[in-house]
Amino acid sequence: MSEPSRPTAVDLSRVLEQHLESLQAAGLEWVPASKEPLAPPKLPQSTALPAAAPVATSLAGTSSSLPLLQPSDNSAHTLDARRQQLDLLRQQVAACTRCAALASTRTQTVFGVGPLDPEVCFVGEAPGADEDAQGEPFVGAAGQMLNRIIMGCGMRRDEVYICNILRCRPPSNRQPLPDEAGNCREWLERQLELVRPRHLCCLGAVAAQNLLGTRLSIGKLRGRFHDYQGIPVLCTYHPSYLIRIPDPAKQREAKAQVWEDMKLLLTRMGRPIPTSKK
Ligand code: SF4
Repeated sequence: MSEPSRPTAVDLSRVLEQHLESLQAAGLEWVPASKEPLAPPKLPQSTALPAAAPVATSLAGTSSSLPLLQPSDNSAHTLDARRQQLDLLRQQVAACTRCAALASTRTQTVFGVGPLDPEVCFVGEAPGADEDAQGEPFVGAAGQMLNRIIMGCGMRRDEVYICNILRCRPPSNRQPLPDEAGNCREWLERQLELVRPRHLCCLGAVAAQNLLGTRLSIGKLRGRFHDYQGIPVLCTYHPSYLIRIPDPAKQREAKAQVWEDMKLLLTRMGRPIPTSKK
């Protein structure tokens, strides 16, 4: 019996092309670019690859070569599969150096916390000092205020998802730069795709403007619903803004506006509105 011949570059190219076509047929719309060469695909016995085969690749700007599954249709995936993919994404993010300055000053990346399929996902701006130290979003003073807002809505923190526009702390708690938000956008989109929140609540102008791609002020964005990929989005003030208002009367007014926003959200979620805020 003669030895099987080694695959040529043409063979590999044809298999890759077929693989991509099958993924496209299954609904995959994009594959992230890689700065590193992809490992050559293994030639199967039959050249036809199964349509559900995941793409194993590495993402641009990360130093990790961990495989990241890119499902063509998340609805086809079980909770466990999505949990696994989210964990892979978390590992990719932990190795991300797309924003060189932030990557060099962070203690760790701050990915996000909460269950899959939550009623609501709160999206903030970026980690602060406490979050950078603990690796969890909204754990400092602003986090305490957010916890009170969540409790005031009759929910528990562990039943909502919480993440930020950026996964690394900007030095001196400055606002994210546009290119930093752009760099982190892919992580955010993928995270939301896997978490699948039923509603989104943007906390503050930076979160709202970046998620929705608008320059409108938070004053103009709050009080009504917007749309992100078919998910209803409500925008309200950032908890740290509520804390920083020096005038007690103005602070009460801003808190009342946040409460009005939360009532809109609760109504849209079909949840009862607690009679007294905490
Ligand atoms: S902010 Fe986002 S894109 Fe920038 S280095 Fe951190 S994880 Fe990467």
